[in-house]
Amino acid sequence: MAGVSLRALDKSYGALRIVKGIDLEIADGEFVVFVGPSGCGKSTTLRMVAGLEAINGGEVRIGDRVVNRLAPRERDIAMVFQDYALYPHKTVRENMGFSLKVRGISAGEAAVRVDEAANMLGISHLLDRRPGQLSGGQRQRVAMGRAIVRRPQVFLFDEPLSNLDAKLRGQVRTEIKKLHQAIGTTIIYVTHDQVEAMTLADRIVILRGGEIEQVGTPDEVYNRPASVFVGGFVGSPAMNFAKARADGGHLVFANGDRLPLSAIQVPAVDGREFVVGIRPEHFTANASEVALSCHVQVVEPLGSDTLVHFAVGNETLTARMPPETRVKAGETLKIGVDPAKIHLFDAATERAVH
Ligand code: ADP
Ligand code: MG
Repeated sequence: MAGVSLRALDKSYGALRIVKGIDLEIADGEFVVFVGPSGCGKSTTLRMVAGLEAINGGEVRIGDRVVNRLAPRERDIAMVFQDYALYPHKTVRENMGFSLKVRGISAGEAAVRVDEAANMLGISHLLDRRPGQLSGGQRQRVAMGRAIVRRPQVFLFDEPLSNLDAKLRGQVRTEIKKLHQAIGTTIIYVTHDQVEAMTLADRIVILRGGEIEQVGTPDEVYNRPASVFVGGFVGSPAMNFAKARADGGHLVFANGDRLPLSAIQVPAVDGREFVVGIRPEHFTANASEVALSCHVQVVEPLGSDTLVHFAVGNETLTARMPPETRVKAGETLKIGVDPAKIHLFDAATERAVH
């Protein structure tokens, strides 16, 4: 096993700079998830670690080796893609064992490793089937098994769950986490799905336009987002944003509502403009002194919670309320906010203020 470090990692296609000087230290055994919108450079970064993409600047180290110039097979990594690309005419056993055979590992040793991996993934009963006789989730497990038998220093996953339906995605996600807990090998995992990132990662790396926007534990990126971008990206339903201005010790919203700044504990100069971030789950039905006047537009009962969409001035916000909430579209009411959970971002830079 080994850690991975990326130092000033850079990639351009022609004149277009795609990855812009990424610095990141990944500890041995850590599960790191790269997350960000489509096109932000996640796959390109992962492929540079894998050796599938040339590096234009900076360095990739795996363990204590600089691997920039090593071919993929010399890097001791194993990659699992969205598209599993199993050999259709080989059995599961042969698919899983093939790379070991190519690497000259004895048939006896290969059989032991295949059995062990199949057991770990719960696919021992499928070893004699061909990929065409498997469900999507089973094929995905075979693709993981093929990586596991290699016993690499580092696993690289690129959107491995994207081809599965929602229910199966949840199941296989849990299995990937169990797998990491069992074998403890360093994992770098790419996804555009923030739920996958939050549930799997020891640390999340949020990428935006080829740069790191924030690195942190799931708790840190959820509770202390460094920017409007991160606040809006992590959490579902997404964080609400509304503009407000500091005035006389209050935050004043466009509709004239005022929240006392002392409750939010941010010193602010009168006239300073903020983007205020409030998560749907941090509104409360009982309006304390920290409350917004809102006009209820749509109510969506989900069973476990009820989403209430409401207007504050001309911005639409969403609150996640307990299921017993009796609120109707068209009503006007005061909705409370937990002041400790309010996020303030500078309106110009969109960076967090505290
Ligand atoms: P992500 O995985 O985050 O969705 P990628 O790393 O695949 O994004 O791509 C990042 C950007 O690089 C995208 O704008 C994509 O169009 C561009 N890109 C990727 N591969 C190539 C290539 N071979 N040639 C030119 N541009 C590319
Ligand atoms: Mg990608």
